Amino acid sequence: MQAVHNVLIIGGGIAGLSAAIAARLAGVEVDLVEADPAWAAVGVGLTLQPSALRALGRLGVLDQILEQSFGYGGTRAIDPEGRVLAETTDGPRLAGPAYPSAAGVPRPALAAILKARAAELGARTRAGMTVSGLTLGSQAVDVRFADGERRQYDLVVGADGIYSSVRRMVFDSTLAPEFTGQGVWRFTTPRPAEVERAWLCRGGPSSAGLIPLTHELMYLFLVENGVEPDRRIAREDLAPRLAALLTGFKGPIGDIAARIGPESDVVYRPFEWVIAPAPWWRGRVLLIGDAAHASTAHLGAGGGMAIEDAVVLGELLAARLDPDEMLRSFMTRRYDRCMLVARNSHMLGEVEQGKVSGVDPGRIAGEVFATLAEPI
Ligand SMILES: Cc1cc2nc3c(=O)[nH]c(=O)nc-3n(C[C@H](O)[C@H](O)[C@H](O)COP(=O)(O)OP(=O)(O)OC[C@H]3O[C@@H](n4cnc5c(N)ncnc54)[C@H](O)[C@@H]3O)c2cc1C
Repeated sequence: MQAVHNVLIIGGGIAGLSAAIAARLAGVEVDLVEADPAWAAVGVGLTLQPSALRALGRLGVLDQILEQSFGYGGTRAIDPEGRVLAETTDGPRLAGPAYPSAAGVPRPALAAILKARAAELGARTRAGMTVSGLTLGSQAVDVRFADGERRQYDLVVGADGIYSSVRRMVFDSTLAPEFTGQGVWRFTTPRPAEVERAWLCRGGPSSAGLIPLTHELMYLFLVENGVEPDRRIAREDLAPRLAALLTGFKGPIGDIAARIGPESDVVYRPFEWVIAPAPWWRGRVLLIGDAAHASTAHLGAGGGMAIEDAVVLGELLAARLDPDEMLRSFMTRRYDRCMLVARNSHMLGEVEQGKVSGVDPGRIAGEVFATLAEPI
């Protein structure tokens, strides 16, 4: 039996950095390559669900993250007129009683903290680098880097996101993310004191909401239905188009819509999802995070699932198992849980678009959060 001594992680997003931390905590040598030379965190902010906070606690970064984010509990449901329909004031405090149940965090802050922790623990990272070839042996992977260097690793982790090239190279070259017909608009703006939890607006032509990010900032989101595939929107059209989509919203969402001007920080992303067929490993190459199971954002849980993948991988590496047994255990512990998040997130999008009926969105969201509250 030969345990894993060194690992190459391909991709320095949430999954890759979390895996680098978890593997170093398990005493394994880590190299990580990130294709983007600037290694910039893309996107606005992220909701960290209770299970994500618990997983970040295991990586030893939760206190730092909460210093730069906005911890909260519960949600406020409003209608498009701004009337409060329902309210919850807390959720399960899975990270421990001293921590909030959820948080909003700016993506750059999360990335910076994960990067610093990986570096502090001795992970060797290279930005602007990728791999050009992976040759799978029975006990190791022969890796050719883009600069021509070759090295052998006991384990290679593909954490290169929804468009994963590791998935294409090693698993299935034809598998591509599927567009679901929806897209999400987001606008970062100052946070009024009253937005101290997630505000979710249902019952209008589109679902929308407000998510606190820091003490100063929050973002407004709007999920648009009936979006044509491959839509391209010029930067200067983003703000006016979001403002137009928000016509008819009153109350706090309407007030924020009125503040959107040509210079406003508005971003748009189509919703896509993809699930690699099980198992998520071949030889000694494992896919994690969005490379293996990318969900739409309806439950705000994809990033948390990526962090959980890393925590489980770290536990299995620390157990010094035979690699095949380790990879099988990874699948046993991760597959159903990740599939539930991906399927139910997709189903919520189908319900919002009127493509299915007779499904209670509260029930399918509740099923996910109840499952995620169970031990990883
Ligand atoms: C609009 C939207 C909103 C979301 N909101 C939430 C939320 O509120 N909460 C939540 O938990 N999740 C949310 N998610 C999901 C979350 O963003 C993803 O699940 C998470 O980012 C996945 O992390 P990852 O590291 O697997 O992939 P990524 O974040 O995509 O990171 C992949 C990294 O790999 C690098 N890379 C790519 N190719 C290569 C290569 N060939 N070689 C080396 N490096 C490479 C990329 O540059 C990138 O740094 C949202 C997603 C979307 C689209």
